[in-house]
Amino acid sequence: MIRDTLNRPLRSLRISVTDRCNLRCAYCMPEMDYVWLPKDDVLDFEEISRLVDVFCSLGVDRVRLTGGEPLLRRHLEKLLSLLSAKPAVKDLAMTTNGILLAERARELKSAGLHRITVSLDTLRAGRFAALTRRGGLERVLEGLEAASSAGFSSVKIDTVVMRGTNDDELTDLIDLGRRLGAEVRFIEYMDVGGATRWRMDKVMSKQEILSVLARGAGPIEPVLEETSAPAQRYRLADGTLFGIIASTTTPFCQTCDRSRLTADGHYFTCLYSPSGSDLRSLIRGGASNQDLAEAITRIWTSRIDRGAEERLAMRERQALAEPGDLRKNPHLEMHTRGG
Ligand code: SAM
Ligand code: SF4
Ligand code: SF4
Repeated sequence: MIRDTLNRPLRSLRISVTDRCNLRCAYCMPEMDYVWLPKDDVLDFEEISRLVDVFCSLGVDRVRLTGGEPLLRRHLEKLLSLLSAKPAVKDLAMTTNGILLAERARELKSAGLHRITVSLDTLRAGRFAALTRRGGLERVLEGLEAASSAGFSSVKIDTVVMRGTNDDELTDLIDLGRRLGAEVRFIEYMDVGGATRWRMDKVMSKQEILSVLARGAGPIEPVLEETSAPAQRYRLADGTLFGIIASTTTPFCQTCDRSRLTADGHYFTCLYSPSGSDLRSLIRGGASNQDLAEAITRIWTSRIDRGAEERLAMRERQALAEPGDLRKNPHLEMHTRGG
């Protein structure tokens, strides 16, 4: 297993399988138009599978498919079958907005997906339509129902909490999670690439989220566990568990073992990295697995990233990028980089 300059191992790989999305969430894709990755640049499943083999040879044992919206990638189940057949991949997960999940949940499970996370920020149809600029709450709820009965080892609900937008629904979301057997994780609104409307006063901090929940759901106790997972977990009096991912106000860079591969094969060692490394050119230029392993080792062993900690230390914190920067460099986008 290789380690970076802060002794962090390379363990978790997030693969964005497409930069396209069927929603336009206000915190991720608020603009009117986007520059998409050229289709010919998108890695095919054999290329992704080969890169996963190389990553696994260096220590990766957790793989998450994301996007964009991963269920928009055609024949995704084929990729899942390739990845789930690898003994080195101990954990195979996916993050989806759930719009296309109801009809796919069983196939995804059969193809070998272990765990699924569905992003859902509100249970009110009008609010959902405004927040996503597309609508489809009913479909997401059907998707969650289908996922919870498909036999995944875990189903989670990820909720980005924004002040004045959905901070009055936290207990409702916990109630939904309890009913479906899905743990809810509240995520602080992050100033990542695509979040051009981000403002600090829209961020509900972990402490504020806990206060709101204590008022609505009663006493809360922290769950003590040693983990590199980003969520701090809590328990309600009835045993219901939930998590908070406090990337904005309490970053966890010190234990970050995650890196990201974009759909077109660019490799990023931090959500906030200004640039990545082009593994597609290497793989299409005839590099052997050994060459790829050496390139990734060079990148990881020189990694110094502490993006969220550096953002926290800034005195005046604003959105990371302007729409013009994103059009010039779509790799800065969260939906391209893979959340
Ligand atoms: N489309 C899929 C989905 O929404 O689940 C997968 C990709 S999306 C980029 C992955 C995750 O990033 C989602 O849970 C989303 O809520 C989160 N995300 C996007 N922008 C964010 C932001 N500005 N702050 C916090 N989380 C964000
Ligand atoms: Fe929303 Fe996910 Fe699409 Fe971003 S990629 S707009 S978070 S559904
Ligand atoms: Fe990891 Fe970068 Fe996120 Fe910190 S900001 S937790 S280093 S991806």
